[in-house]
Amino acid sequence: MPGQGSASWGKGMKACLLQAPAPIETNPLNFTDVAVPRPGRGEILVRVRACGVCRTDLHVVEGELPPRKSPIIPGHQIVGVVEENGADAHRFSKGVRVGIAWLHRTDGTCEYCRAGAENLCDHPSFTGYTVDGGYAEYVVADEDFVYPIPAGFADEHAAPLLCAGIIGFRSLRLSGIKEGGRLGLYGFGAAAHVAIQVARHWGAEVYASTRDARHQQLALELGAKWTGDTFAEPPVKLDAVIIFAPAGEIVPSI
Ligand SMILES: [Zn+2]
Ligand SMILES: [Zn+2]
Repeated sequence: MPGQGSASWGKGMKACLLQAPAPIETNPLNFTDVAVPRPGRGEILVRVRACGVCRTDLHVVEGELPPRKSPIIPGHQIVGVVEENGADAHRFSKGVRVGIAWLHRTDGTCEYCRAGAENLCDHPSFTGYTVDGGYAEYVVADEDFVYPIPAGFADEHAAPLLCAGIIGFRSLRLSGIKEGGRLGLYGFGAAAHVAIQVARHWGAEVYASTRDARHQQLALELGAKWTGDTFAEPPVKLDAVIIFAPAGEIVPSI
């Protein structure tokens, strides 16, 4: 049997377990002992070193996303080191630092997967939602959906890149913004605060619109040329805009 005799075999671990969704004020996460999960075929066991907290985790914990597995260990911005390979898992050696994101696995066969758009897969599974996630000492992941993390990042700096970073970077690429271009960001949460740093590195000017004064201040600290309220008109014509805010009224209708 794969993994038999390894250090983690048959051991318990600490994890934050959600038995049933409830308002966060009622402390629905239970810090408790559970069995260390076993990596199956093509999977790896990762020892968690850091796990970011995303708003989606809050949606899972409070039940805004209907429960898909119960109980569940949330958390999908995971940085850890490979502890053990399951059968037929060869991509990483033990001790390599890796990242695990929201997309746990796809079916690989639907029309989206075959077109290279697996983020739109018809039958996906999600880390910390449909399978156990990273609020634990160990987590299991499909090796095909695990990212090597380059040296030079602290664990806690790499972790947010695995959700907010992915969303922010994808949005930036789709925006087509170029060096010297003027980019508008609507909403300034986790994804935007990563995207602005990349956009500035690319040499773009950033104009950030958000209703939250603290977020406006953060945008300025991160190099925004201008900040304003959600409905304030930026002082220049923008070349591209990314709307991170979940506010339908600022989505232009065609
Ligand atoms: Zn997330
Ligand atoms: Zn698919």
